[in-house]
Amino acid sequence: MADPQRYVVLGNGVAGTTAAETLRKNDPDCDITLFTDEPYPLYNRVALPPALKLKTPESKLFMKTMEFHKERNICFYPETRVTSVDLPRRTVLTDHGNEFVFDRLLVATGGTPNPIDVPGATADGVCYFQSLDDTKDLLGRIPRSMSAVAIGGSYIAYELAEAFRARGLHVTWLIRGPRFLHRVLDESGGQLVDAIARKHGVEMVYTDSAERLETRDGHVTAVVTKGDRRFDADIVGCGLGFRLNHEFLPPDQVEIGYGVITNQFLETNVEGVYAAGDVAEFYDVDLETHYTMGTWASAATHGKVAALNMAGTRQPVVEVRSYTTMLFDSRMTVIGATPEIRQDIESVSHTDFSGATYKGWSYRRLFFFDERLVGAVLIGDMHAKVDLVNVIRGKKKVWDDRSELLRL
Ligand SMILES: Cc1cc2nc3c(=O)[nH]c(=O)nc-3n(C[C@H](O)[C@H](O)[C@H](O)COP(=O)(O)OP(=O)(O)OC[C@H]3O[C@@H](n4cnc5c(N)ncnc54)[C@H](O)[C@@H]3O)c2cc1C
Repeated sequence: MADPQRYVVLGNGVAGTTAAETLRKNDPDCDITLFTDEPYPLYNRVALPPALKLKTPESKLFMKTMEFHKERNICFYPETRVTSVDLPRRTVLTDHGNEFVFDRLLVATGGTPNPIDVPGATADGVCYFQSLDDTKDLLGRIPRSMSAVAIGGSYIAYELAEAFRARGLHVTWLIRGPRFLHRVLDESGGQLVDAIARKHGVEMVYTDSAERLETRDGHVTAVVTKGDRRFDADIVGCGLGFRLNHEFLPPDQVEIGYGVITNQFLETNVEGVYAAGDVAEFYDVDLETHYTMGTWASAATHGKVAALNMAGTRQPVVEVRSYTTMLFDSRMTVIGATPEIRQDIESVSHTDFSGATYKGWSYRRLFFFDERLVGAVLIGDMHAKVDLVNVIRGKKKVWDDRSELLRL
């Protein structure tokens, strides 16, 4: 193939936008086309939870402008959904009926929240939390609401529960599993999160799930569970995981798993087609498995690495992912690999409930694979984070040092 001239990037999240910017830095003359079905240039998804708590104004969420793309000669198409990709003809088709030719294609389309699948699910007041428009919708509802139920055992449900509580609603947090992040935290970590949430006035419910939503005049009023409990809800905030956006790719030609399967260079099985960010199920050479990252910083890294590889270099993804979030007014960080990625990852943990208040409580769980430290979770005390990241990056065998690492 002659030098690629036409790059098409699907998705303008941090992965796609970073890729477009990197492609332009690398080559002032190539054609770059960037699509998004949202109406906005890049905004900061990580800042949506503070925005919901009114701690970040909407104007501070935007990270790029239309002018940014214009100045760099990046053809930016907001509110344009890519509906199919024709690989033999090397074209993408949009919902406006237009076709665009590419030499190299990057799929960076992220994910869409799984809908709640119970009677009442389409009622007004059943909400999701993935986009700026979701956030605006929630911001409009919260002042009109008294009570909310957050459903789900992972980060998004936590963000919803915490924001609803911070905004003064009565909050129930309904988790189908035995605890928050049940594959990442062990029982004792779950107890610590439970204690912190309850101290903040959240009603915690485990091992139960929604059976139906009660409604009045088309608006949700309560969640009724399989365990036959009933919780008032003017808002039901769903954080039930998400499906990844790759339905426009021909599955008989592009290898698809949960995400779009790539090698460590973010190349798919189709020459010239790459994937990056949340949607990429990339191959981790050290862990010898494919997985999706799901964090902001790794999506940015993916965007950069994919762009460089599309332009002709050959760099693997080398990334210790890190997801840091508030945990009410404590903090939590999840670094590197966890048993969500490989079930045979081993762990040790330590919980310290000795502080006089929950602000002094802390938790540390370390994950090992092939006698190396590959991941960690910290709650409360964060001082060891940098050292642990360095041990993970160093890939040293630490079989005898496990408990020492707990005291680092
Ligand atoms: C509320 C919330 C809080 C979060 N908090 C944190 C945090 O504290 N720390 C952290 O590390 N991560 C956090 N994350 C995760 C982080 O935001 C994501 O990992 C990251 O934004 C993924 O970026 P991306 O570019 O891969 O995908 P996205 O940001 O999802 O961008 C993909 C874009 O592609 C568009 N698109 C999809 N399909 C099509 C199509 N067919 N045609 C055109 N466009 C399409 C989508 O609408 C979207 O705009 C949070 C996420 C959310 C939602």
